[in-house]
Amino acid sequence: MQTKNLTLGDLGILSDYDPDSMPVEQARELIKYFLVPLDTQETVPLRAALQRTLACDVPSPIAVPPHDYSSMDGYAMSHAGLHSAPTKLRLIGKAYAGHPFADKVATGECVRIMTGALIPHGCDTVVIQEHVRADNDSIEIGAGHTAGQNIRRVGEDIALGTTVLACGQRVRPVEMGLLASLGLSEVSVYRKLRVAIFSSGDELQQPGSPLAPGHIYDSNRHTLFGMLSELGADVLDMGNVGDDKERLKQTLLEAAARADVIITSGGVSVGEADYIRPLLAEIGEIVFWKIAMKPGRPLAYGKIGASHFFGLPGNPVAVMVTFQQFVRDALCHLMGQLATSPIKLSAVCSEAIKKAPGRTEFQRGILTQGDEGGLIVRTTGAQGSGILSSMSLANCYIVLPLEQGNVEAGTRVVVQPF
Ligand code: AMP
Ligand code: MG
Repeated sequence: MQTKNLTLGDLGILSDYDPDSMPVEQARELIKYFLVPLDTQETVPLRAALQRTLACDVPSPIAVPPHDYSSMDGYAMSHAGLHSAPTKLRLIGKAYAGHPFADKVATGECVRIMTGALIPHGCDTVVIQEHVRADNDSIEIGAGHTAGQNIRRVGEDIALGTTVLACGQRVRPVEMGLLASLGLSEVSVYRKLRVAIFSSGDELQQPGSPLAPGHIYDSNRHTLFGMLSELGADVLDMGNVGDDKERLKQTLLEAAARADVIITSGGVSVGEADYIRPLLAEIGEIVFWKIAMKPGRPLAYGKIGASHFFGLPGNPVAVMVTFQQFVRDALCHLMGQLATSPIKLSAVCSEAIKKAPGRTEFQRGILTQGDEGGLIVRTTGAQGSGILSSMSLANCYIVLPLEQGNVEAGTRVVVQPF
C-alpha cells in the first residue's frame, strides 16, 4: 500500500499540535493526513461484493425498465379509441408478465393485461379492471381516462448510460440488488483492507473456560472482530499477547509485515506493564497518544513501517467509542469509500449530567421521542468505561463538547444515533 511521506516534522502544519492531549476534532484531522486509500482493484462475483467498495463508476448498461410495462391489472388499448363514453372495445388477447401479446392492437380493440406485462404494439393506456365491465369478447369503459395512465415507461427509473453508482460507494444489500437489476453479475471493487488485531494483558482469558483468580475474559477482541467484520475488513486475529515487551514487539513487527492496519487494545496507558507506547516509539512513529476525551483518553495513533497503528485503551467501552469515533472513518477512507458525515441531532436531556470542561465526552444515551414528537435523551446510567452493557443498552452517544461543563436537566444536548 502507498503511504504519504509525512513525518512528525511536518506536523508544524498544525499550530497547536500536542501529542499528549489532542482535541477530538484535531486528532481526526491529523489521522487523515496519513491515510492513502487502497488502489488495487479486483473483479468479483456480485455476491462477493457485499461490504466491498466500488472501484469505478457504474453506468447503467440498460434502461430501467427496459420497455414499457403495465403497472396494474386491467386492459390495454389505444387512448385514441376512447372517444365516446361508454366505449365498447373488442377483446383480442392476453398479455401476462413474461408472456407478451405478439400482435398489433388496432384502435377499437383491447388486450387483457397483468401487472408487469409488456405493453402491446398499438397500446398507450391501461384501464384498471375495476373500471371496466367485461363480457366474453368485449369490454365497456366509462369516461375519464388519460393517455399513458398505468404504464411504467422505458427508462423512467434509470436512463441507459446514467451513472447509477459512484466509485467509492460501499456495496450494501440495496446496491447488490441495484447491480443485479442492471444485469451485472460481477463488479470491480478495491481489494479488502487487511486489519490485524490483538489484545494485550496478562489478566485476559478466552471465553469458554472457568475464570482463574484475578483474570477477566477478553471481550475487546470480539467487539473489534465484530465491528471490523461489519466494515468488510479482512481480519487477522493474532490473539492475546500478554504484557511481555519482547513478545509484543515481535507481534507488532509481524502484524506490520502482514496487515495494512494494526489495532490493539490495552497496555497503551502509563502503567508499569504498558509497553505499547514505548514500543511504538522504538519500532515506528507516534503521531499522538492521548486524546482529550472520555472514555478513551489513552489512544495511540502512529505508523509501523507502512502500516497504520491504532493502540486502543483496554477498557471495553473505550475500545468501542474510540473505534467508532476515529478508527472506523479512517478504515473507510483507506478502503476507498466516499466520506459520509454522521447525523447529529439535538435532543432535550431529561436528567442532569456531571461533566468537567477540557475533554469531549461520549456518554451512552437512550434516545426516545416525546408525546409531541420532540427528541428526549437520558443516559444509560453509570458511565464507567468498563461497563460494556451500557453500550448494549444505548442507541446513541450523548456528545458533550470539550468546553462544556455540567449539563442541567431540560437543556439541549447533541446526540449521535448509532
Ligand atoms: P490497560 O489499558 O491495559 O490498563 O487496561 C485497562 C482496563 O481494561 C483493565 O481493567 C483491563 O483489565 C481491561 N482490559 C484490557 N484489555 C481487555 C480486553 N481485551 N477485554 C476486556 N477488558 C480488557
Ligand atoms: Mg493492561
